[in-house]
Amino acid sequence: MRGAVLHAYNTPLKVENLDVERPREGEVLLRIKSAGVCHSDLYVLEGATPVPPPLVPGHEAVAVVEEVGPRVEGLAPGDVVVSSFIWPCGRCRNCARGLENLCEKFAEVRLRGTMLDGTTRLSMGGTPVRVFLGGVWAEYAVVPASAVVKLPQRLWDKPELASLGCAYLTAYGAVVNSGATSPGDTVVVVGTGGVGLAVVQMAKALGARVIAVGRNPAKLKIASEMGAEVVDVKSSPVEEVKRLTDKRGGDVVIEAVGSEETVDMAIEMAAAGGRVVLVGLMAVGRRAPVHVARVVRSGITIVGSYGARPRVDLPKVVSMVDRGLLRPELLASDKYRLEEVNQAVEALKSGKSVRPILLP
Ligand SMILES: [Zn+2]
Ligand SMILES: [Zn+2]
Repeated sequence: MRGAVLHAYNTPLKVENLDVERPREGEVLLRIKSAGVCHSDLYVLEGATPVPPPLVPGHEAVAVVEEVGPRVEGLAPGDVVVSSFIWPCGRCRNCARGLENLCEKFAEVRLRGTMLDGTTRLSMGGTPVRVFLGGVWAEYAVVPASAVVKLPQRLWDKPELASLGCAYLTAYGAVVNSGATSPGDTVVVVGTGGVGLAVVQMAKALGARVIAVGRNPAKLKIASEMGAEVVDVKSSPVEEVKRLTDKRGGDVVIEAVGSEETVDMAIEMAAAGGRVVLVGLMAVGRRAPVHVARVVRSGITIVGSYGARPRVDLPKVVSMVDRGLLRPELLASDKYRLEEVNQAVEALKSGKSVRPILLP
């Protein structure tokens, strides 16, 4: 089968012929219909998220189940699913206490690029090939069955739904689980990429007032069309958010960029008693300073948010899409063939495309 392989950091991907093994216990073999291109993939391509190459990136997809491994229940060949980047083992301490997005087993293998059992299912001429949380920039992928959720038949032919597996799952975790957003809250989102715009839709769907802070005029326009008030980061964004909120700031501020400057900005934009939800990733090892006096005196909660629970939250995201509350087609509209993978990556990097979709 064909897949987009990264051979060395900061080099173009090559579409190669790969061997794919059959799924083992608890796993499924997927035939990929569509796959999203995400900023987390770019970090891997650059080596900032140091998964060792050779590897196949891609961690959100719509796919057909081709084969189920031993001890997989509730899935059968022919089912169409959304595949997420979170792989719960189902048995560790965090899985057992309802925090399967923080699965201990998954955390162990995430940066190694292997399956939960520490081995790979892909190879090239006998050399093992790793994956970044799925390896879905390919015709086929093997993932844990716990990572996928079935789609109702009326949603089978919507390639943009690949973005549910990362962008929208992450938005759900940030707005609902970590942000604890209530109807009528003011939600400020810093960043208008795939996750940021998914946050805008999610918070609107929950009945929040939404203010989107971003840099790219085209993306701010999309946020505005989704019903957000928009603030250009090149103006004085903190003052502007304060002006729009009677000097209070946001009840929930979601940081979806991952830079020192925007983390600081998010903390300054939070209302007293508010929550700052950190979603944007920085390169492994990088840190951001915290304005402690403000956090302490204003009783601000800072909370990190990693994805959401695929088996608990992803079915709810699918249900919201099914009822028209979320519209992934508004941010995932640009399609590319697998051979055009480097153009798709470039389109995301340059800001030309919010969520490029590959059609392998
Ligand atoms: Zn992602
Ligand atoms: Zn677990």
